[in-house]
Amino acid sequence: MLTQLKSPMSPQNDPWEAIDRRKQFGSNKLTSIEFTVTNLCNLRCEHCAVGDVLTMKDSEERIPLPLIFQRLDEIEHLDTLSITGGEPMFNQQIITDYIVPLLRYAHERGAKTQINSNLTLDLDRYEAILPYLDVLHISFNYVDAQDFYRTAYVHKMHPVSFSQAEKTFNTMVENTIELAKRGVFVSAESLISEHTAGKLSRIHHIIKELGCQRHEVHPLYPSDFARHMKILSLAELRGVYNRLLDERDPDLWILFGTLPFYACNSSEEDLALVKRMKDSHNVTVRNDPDGHNRLNTNIFTGEVIVTDFGDVEPLGNLRTDRLDDCFERWQKHSLFQPFNCYCPQSSCVGPNIIVADTYYRGIDFRERKGISL
Ligand code: SF4
Repeated sequence: MLTQLKSPMSPQNDPWEAIDRRKQFGSNKLTSIEFTVTNLCNLRCEHCAVGDVLTMKDSEERIPLPLIFQRLDEIEHLDTLSITGGEPMFNQQIITDYIVPLLRYAHERGAKTQINSNLTLDLDRYEAILPYLDVLHISFNYVDAQDFYRTAYVHKMHPVSFSQAEKTFNTMVENTIELAKRGVFVSAESLISEHTAGKLSRIHHIIKELGCQRHEVHPLYPSDFARHMKILSLAELRGVYNRLLDERDPDLWILFGTLPFYACNSSEEDLALVKRMKDSHNVTVRNDPDGHNRLNTNIFTGEVIVTDFGDVEPLGNLRTDRLDDCFERWQKHSLFQPFNCYCPQSSCVGPNIIVADTYYRGIDFRERKGISL
């Protein structure tokens, strides 16, 4: 029951990485849970992958905390616990009633913890979670306040002035600098979109200047609000990745997530990029947790799903199902089978559902074999 993962996070030790437990147990294993704790958010970013479920008021229906603890207790190897929203820190009651107890539970079990926040609220709001937090994950897709203004309010129902946006942007920047200075592990995520592709290196260097310890980089995928945005081609993405690797600061850890390039691809350029990432100092490619070692659940409905930005029907419910059983249902699910692959020689457990659906529709990855790069 007790999981011990006390060593510090580093490119050599990423507790969210799915392949380590896969190697240990010979099959995918549920070791990671993500909780959606609110559908409220003060922003409405153009790329929001859960934008369709954002509301103005959270449901009063809540899964009782003792039942959530029971479901967590039933997971034999809990390596990581993540909190997401909406903006999880928006509702003080939720912070007190759910976020702090969940983070404390994971911390006391020896699991690593993460919260996904836009970090735009008053700094003192974050104090209560810091003792139990391992990763403060923020979104950062901007080179200045103007960029933030263009991005963060696209789907807002009421107009927001530039000066309001600038104030919010400055709060986020100041909070990041202050918390990083206090030793909080701030991991800033950028999405590769048509708006960020040409300035990703500048964004990367700003993230370093703010004191963040890691830059997490993902392509934009067409989920919820992001469905209205242009999705870059694989060739365009390759160019962006190579430019970033050319121009990055080697002292800042880059984590590439939901990478749509694999060691089983036939393109020489794809293989060269995968190898370049593998060989670069302070660069890691994370096998995607969703469905490989993680499930998402929701404190309001109790529904258990494979990923918070997917359209797959729930795999079960906290009220009635063990989380391990929900995970096994996904392992056998017909939607998962075409990419239920594993190539230890390539350190790869295959794509997740949204990557496969976006770039590899109709491909059966079980018929492919990755090479050792
Ligand atoms: S695990 Fe799947 S995606 Fe990865 S290299 Fe092998 S076949 Fe390709």
